[in-house]
Amino acid sequence: MASALRTLVLNADYRPLSTFPPSLWAPEDAILAVLKDKVDVVESWDAVYRSQKVTLAVPKVIALKHYVAVDAEPRFCRRAILVRDRFTCQYCGRRFAAAELTFDHVVPRSAGGRTCWTNILTACVGCNSLKGSVPANYSGRRGVPAGRSLRPLKEPRRPTAAELFRAGLDSLPDRLIEDFGSWLYWSTELDA
Ligand SMILES: [Zn+2]
Repeated sequence: MASALRTLVLNADYRPLSTFPPSLWAPEDAILAVLKDKVDVVESWDAVYRSQKVTLAVPKVIALKHYVAVDAEPRFCRRAILVRDRFTCQYCGRRFAAAELTFDHVVPRSAGGRTCWTNILTACVGCNSLKGSVPANYSGRRGVPAGRSLRPLKEPRRPTAAELFRAGLDSLPDRLIEDFGSWLYWSTELDA
């Protein structure tokens, strides 16, 4: 069996369990869940899993039989901040790999700034060092030093679970979109 194959796991309502990271299982785990009657197979890969006991098409998409409650309140963590800010420096607006982004306190810790949704945003190393320990300001030109303080693209805030889910979709690698696009996207709300 091709080891690169992955199985997308949907909740009982056919929405992906998560998008950051995407809810993917190793096919062996998916097959175990199928055999235990915990999931329905929605779609299969064009590949067959064979063991002494079973021969089964490798599941591509499975859905849990019992709905699992997903977090109503997104947890405040590094990955969630990166996803909320779409891996984009919130000062210069350029996209970076996660490893090249820092977590900037809009109001620096030295000035009493807290580590929370509304005071943390992603910044590239260049912008972060340009900003230094000066509080960001919300006037002046975006991303351009006004005096010595940078203006963020937008005020950071606590995202809703739906917003993070959508932002997570936007951050998925192209390969996953190709493989699972319709299952990942068709449950998202239509833009007004
Ligand atoms: Zn930047």
